[in-house]
Amino acid sequence: MRRGDLAGLLHAKVRDDVEFVFGDSIDTLDQAGRAVDVTFRSGRQRTFDLVVGADGMHSNTRESLFGPEEQFHRYLGYCFAIFTMPNTFGFSHELMMWNSPGRAAALYAVGDNDELHAFLNFHRPEPPLDALRNPDAQRDLVAKVFAGAGWEVPGMVDAMRDADDLFFDTAGQIRMPHWSSGRVALVGDAAYAPSFLTGQGTSLALVGAYMLSGALAACRDHSAALAAYERGLRGFVAMNQAMADNGAALLFPVTARALEQRDTMLRGLVTMPAAPARPAHSALVLPDLAPFTTRMRRLP
Ligand SMILES: Cc1cc2nc3c(=O)[nH]c(=O)nc-3n(C[C@H](O)[C@H](O)[C@H](O)COP(=O)(O)OP(=O)(O)OC[C@H]3O[C@@H](n4cnc5c(N)ncnc54)[C@H](O)[C@@H]3O)c2cc1C
Repeated sequence: MRRGDLAGLLHAKVRDDVEFVFGDSIDTLDQAGRAVDVTFRSGRQRTFDLVVGADGMHSNTRESLFGPEEQFHRYLGYCFAIFTMPNTFGFSHELMMWNSPGRAAALYAVGDNDELHAFLNFHRPEPPLDALRNPDAQRDLVAKVFAGAGWEVPGMVDAMRDADDLFFDTAGQIRMPHWSSGRVALVGDAAYAPSFLTGQGTSLALVGAYMLSGALAACRDHSAALAAYERGLRGFVAMNQAMADNGAALLFPVTARALEQRDTMLRGLVTMPAAPARPAHSALVLPDLAPFTTRMRRLP
């Protein structure tokens, strides 16, 4: 499922009950009074009882509240570029991948689309800080790393040069000692990104939002609610973040030996393997919020 499709479903579910403001962004937050005074980039000013920053891995809300990202970011040893290109291969609901030690190139189709997702991932002991805010430098870095690679990689690198939707980033996690300050809380990647290497980012974001809304409904004041949110979720987040370690992703082996072992394992599969037990996925039983939603509906 594509991220945009999920976002569309969630938006459709609540758009008649919730006010959405598109094309604007928080500029400053002022918590001097008994509420949060927000100034938007557009210049508009509004006051809210509570602000929840759900603005992703590179959250501005986090930066303005807790300081620079570097102190919370845990680099996991990989960089990646993702973009779309024409589906000239006729792929449908499938993924093909090429590897060499420390490099992986994948092409995948989520449906019967004219479009393919292209993914170029590589190992790098230190994050390429210079390239992170410079798209030209990102393109050059990826092209250099994948120079001489086989399979469809040269065509993918050419397509990356022309792509208007290139997304480049490092694989990393956000680990923070606290997820709120005063009347401002963080949820999802902004507070506890686990990285795509865990496959759990969307689950943590949705479960986190659910737990936060439950805590707000159950507690009398925001301080107690935000403390309960952290108490209820932190163990689950820690278990899921522990699923990924620096340079240790099975899909992206960094050494020739690890790649050979991975391929030997795959070649040995004669049937679809049973899903491995992943206790972290089910480590949290969601509380029943039905009593609260009934109560909220009854409020005038
Ligand atoms: C390549 C890749 C593959 C992934 N694969 C998976 C997977 O298979 N399964 C999985 O569960 N997770 C996966 N993830 C992780 C998943 O996408 C994230 O964990 C999830 O999207 C986090 O949701 P979020 O709402 O917290 O943040 P995001 O989805 O990042 O949403 C943040 C939103 O805030 C907006 N925003 C940012 N800054 C501002 C600002 N200043 N003002 C206004 N708006 C702003 C952004 O435009 C964005 O819409 C993957 C991630 C990547 C990069």
